[in-house]
Amino acid sequence: MEDVRIYVHIPFCKSKCQYCDFNSYDNKNYLIDSYINCVLDEIDIQYSTIKNRNITSIFLGGGTPSYLKPHLIRSILHHLPFDRNTEVTIEVNPGTIDRDKLESYLDMGINRISFGVQSLNDQLLRLMGRVHTRETALSNIKMAKEVGFTNISADLMMGYPLQSFEIYEETLHTMIELDMQHLSCYSLKVEENTPLDRMIKRKMLPEPKDELDRKMYHFTERILKENDILQYEISNYARKGFECKHNMGYWELDEYLGFGISAHSYFKGKRFHNTESITDYIHDIKEKRLTRFDEEVIDANESRKEFIILGLRLNKGLNIEKFNEKYDSDFMNDYKTAIEKCLKDQVISIKNNVVVLTKLGKDFANSVFTEFM
Ligand code: SF4
Repeated sequence: MEDVRIYVHIPFCKSKCQYCDFNSYDNKNYLIDSYINCVLDEIDIQYSTIKNRNITSIFLGGGTPSYLKPHLIRSILHHLPFDRNTEVTIEVNPGTIDRDKLESYLDMGINRISFGVQSLNDQLLRLMGRVHTRETALSNIKMAKEVGFTNISADLMMGYPLQSFEIYEETLHTMIELDMQHLSCYSLKVEENTPLDRMIKRKMLPEPKDELDRKMYHFTERILKENDILQYEISNYARKGFECKHNMGYWELDEYLGFGISAHSYFKGKRFHNTESITDYIHDIKEKRLTRFDEEVIDANESRKEFIILGLRLNKGLNIEKFNEKYDSDFMNDYKTAIEKCLKDQVISIKNNVVVLTKLGKDFANSVFTEFM
């Protein structure tokens, strides 16, 4: 039986964060029930496709899935044929859960929680427009442990305007003390037309500083390694055996199907995504219509590019033998010019038939990827 991964997008949030450009709403609660019914219908429409597949991971992302009443989450999982070997993750924002919700998540088969912590500094959290405080984040994570979750992750942000190194350092140290299994530490990207972008353009906030972001990044790599939380992808760190299987699937070009608005899929050699409009989505699904956008056949050339970029993002690197086998080619010869330049610039290294980004290469990852394109 072939594997497949499932992503379900839940686009509702308690309030909108200042930096957010995800497809999420804080003013459409009246659509929650119809939206979830449509997600169930969309799964039903695709059921014949997924029933013959082994679902290796399910990721309930958003938005804020934990903002919904648990019976709605349960109804989605009831529609998906998964078993106890499936990694089932829910994204949770502190301040939107309680003990009952956590207990019911465990009961319905969710075995991994990803907390959107971002920072543990109250001033910074207010500036970001987050709904939680340091206290809420810490108590929610402790509660998840008490309830019985043994695979807990947190997202942290680096390089936010007015976020000093000391603020980030304190947050990271506290997360280490909490004995987390997994951390995702992302650099802020200021997205066009977000409130944060407007504040920076009006000089109400300073621009993020690259050097500070890099300092935070190098500190993260070092301090987490010292605490046995190892980097396995540019922004992701885990204790041994707790790497996120779902995301590894994306990076290793496994097939996945996305449900809900904006959800992306890579299935049977094609990439496509659902509509971004919640009203169009509800309308189409009620008419039993699945509309795919930007459908693109991933030919061998495109697939090679993705294999290289995604492989280089991972700490275990790009396996030359696997590449040659998969594409019936000679990597060292086909990419001779790029390889020579990157080795000369010391942004990659090659050992035991595996290409990895060096420390310098991770700082300039996008330029390295461009060399290979
Ligand atoms: S909680 Fe996440 S999805 Fe919701 S507004 Fe904030 S950043 Fe965006």
